[in-house]
Amino acid sequence: MNRVVIVTGGGRGIGAATAKLLAAKGYSVCVNFRQNADRAASTVSAITTSGGNAFAFQADVSVESEVRSLFKAAQSRFGLVTHLVNNAGVLFAQSPLGQVSAERFRKILSSNVMSCFLCCREFINQAGKLAAIVNVSSAASRTGAPFEYVDYAASKGAMDSLTKGLSLELAARGIRVNSVRPGFIHTEMHGDGGEPDRVERLSPQIPMGRGGTPEEVAESIAWLLSEDASYVTGSFIDIAGGK
Ligand code: NAP
Repeated sequence: MNRVVIVTGGGRGIGAATAKLLAAKGYSVCVNFRQNADRAASTVSAITTSGGNAFAFQADVSVESEVRSLFKAAQSRFGLVTHLVNNAGVLFAQSPLGQVSAERFRKILSSNVMSCFLCCREFINQAGKLAAIVNVSSAASRTGAPFEYVDYAASKGAMDSLTKGLSLELAARGIRVNSVRPGFIHTEMHGDGGEPDRVERLSPQIPMGRGGTPEEVAESIAWLLSEDASYVTGSFIDIAGGK
């Protein structure tokens, strides 16, 4: 089977680790990015240097027309898109919910939920059998992230409902939809939230005593996409060191 995957937000962090791992497992990978072309190019270069197939494509996945272009580009390069990782997401500065503007809340929902919906819809309207989706949610959907990112947590909660509902709609077609919920993972996203060393600060509160790596998250994503998980759908894997 020709396995073709789109990894949204594949230029850095969890997306880049996932793109590299999937390429090493034989997938042809479309590395989507929004603005950071250099980082996406280095993900692609790491893959092709190791003998894999990949290309980078710029698209803001919260915009319908750009999602269409993304899928068209992946299809014309590699053929039917068989797998999808909805990884793109944003986080804004830590703030209690009472000080969050309506504009910020709208942006969070658009970047984290609308993007997931648009990519899932585009995917399922062209997918064959044996296709699979993994949505990258967050432990925040369970904890609510009080005083820091309730808006972000709410967006991930919406993503979880989408995962559950869509998995049930698609189960009889053989298309599996699952989710990973990472906890504190060492990536640059925490800098966007205003605290680059957040994972180190919170490590003592994590039962395993440390933050996770993007590669550890990528392993679970790759398993959920694979035929090794052929009877798994509508499921959530918490990758949070016991938190
Ligand atoms: P990251 O390093 O900030 O990477 C996020 C990527 O998403 C960036 O490459 C960015 O691309 C891309 N992106 C954002 N909005 C986009 C859009 N509208 N269209 C296309 N690409 C977009 O973050 P990360 O930590 O790897 O996080 C990846 C996912 O894991 C996110 O969904 C995040 O919520 C989730 N997560 C992370 C953690 C953690 O502790 N790190 C914990 C739980 C869940 P550009 O750079 O090109 O803008």
